[in-house]
Amino acid sequence: MNLPEKFLERMKERLGKEYPAFLASYEKPPYKALRVNTLKISLEDFLDLAPFYLGEQTDWEENGFYIEEEKAGSYKEHFAGLYYLQEPSAMCVGEYTNACKKERVLDLCAAPGGKTTAIAAQMEGDGILISNEIDAGRAKILSQNVERMGIKNCAVTNATPAQLTEKFPCYFDLVLVDAPCSGEGMFKKEPEAIPHWSENNVALCAARQKEILDCAAQMVAGGGHLVYSTCTFSEEEDEWQIRAFVERHPEFVLEQEHKLYPYLEKGEGHYCARLRKVGGETKNAKPYPIKRNAQANKAFAEFAKDFFAVLPKGEITTLDDGRMYLVPAGMPALGVRTLRLGVELGEFDGRIFKPAHALAMSVKREEVKHFVALSPEECERYLSGETLSRELENGWCVVGFDKYPLGLAKCVNGVLKNHLPKGLRKM
Ligand code: SAM
Repeated sequence: MNLPEKFLERMKERLGKEYPAFLASYEKPPYKALRVNTLKISLEDFLDLAPFYLGEQTDWEENGFYIEEEKAGSYKEHFAGLYYLQEPSAMCVGEYTNACKKERVLDLCAAPGGKTTAIAAQMEGDGILISNEIDAGRAKILSQNVERMGIKNCAVTNATPAQLTEKFPCYFDLVLVDAPCSGEGMFKKEPEAIPHWSENNVALCAARQKEILDCAAQMVAGGGHLVYSTCTFSEEEDEWQIRAFVERHPEFVLEQEHKLYPYLEKGEGHYCARLRKVGGETKNAKPYPIKRNAQANKAFAEFAKDFFAVLPKGEITTLDDGRMYLVPAGMPALGVRTLRLGVELGEFDGRIFKPAHALAMSVKREEVKHFVALSPEECERYLSGETLSRELENGWCVVGFDKYPLGLAKCVNGVLKNHLPKGLRKM
């Protein structure tokens, strides 16, 4: 691996006699891992149906396992959101966030969603999770992952940290800043980042992190936590960044920090710190302004009568474009570009209600009246966008395998029409 001279020089200076071990770690292939999505499946059940060999549990996460499988993203269990593929060292952030039910949590730099999906599992669907991503394209991927994992208490936003700071002063029990960084810890996994490395870029990253952290600080409620992480080794972006932050913000104390080196861990490089805001107030925000549309609600109720065995609870809001969402209890007004809000139920076109893929991904088998269990071969055909056949009553149903939904289909005279969104189908 062709690593920048200056980077190696800096690492040698930092690590001293441990430097040869660090260098030798680049000889080994990167570790791969998955995290079981306990929002959808218990660990025990996953161990029974895991579609490929699972290695040891990862060091930092009880639901994490090392894997060897190269195509772990192409299995039906992945499409069903039963697991998330995540670099094993990145799982250490879960131990630092340790989010709880009923909390208000902000994941400020959230795409593609590794930490957000871990936090959502920690919250067990109870509380408010705002997952934000500044880049519109990446926010879309984040939103798809939130959907696939069946997270119901999350809003996905696409805003700058400063825009959110204006809306949510002293509001969150926990803010995670998984900062954009120079990525030194991921060179083995993402070699395309190597040519972008320079001391100048490290300095630019550090300056951007300082800005993001200063925004984040203002959004933490009194007594709340700020968790900061990077996948880089440079002190400017890690330990020095956090020490300078505490100097600027004496209301925060550093509770815990850890640096993960690839020659000491079974994973790549990472840094994580947990700070507590000891003083300061907690502020509330205005509640999310529900837009009630009687016609749309009537059309949904008509659909729901035949679709649900157990009706979902919560308030329905109907946006101007007809999209309908089940708003999580306690959701504040967002006031920034929002891609997803709680559970996307579907769309009202002024006449009829059409359910959304997200709805199928959020339900459990026993919550719907019509669940069609497919054979493994039929699952592959459904995921490729094919139409299947079944002698069933006409109408909407959820299709999947075992107890796990893959998406929606509509039965019309013995034909199961495929409603898996085109962009999510297997190529
Ligand atoms: N937390 C994510 C996960 O676990 O999947 C990874 C986040 S990645 C390390 C950092 C993210 O910060 C990127 O998605 C990037 O687009 C975003 N970002 C870049 N510049 C930013 C800025 N100025 N403010 C906030 N976020 C920014």
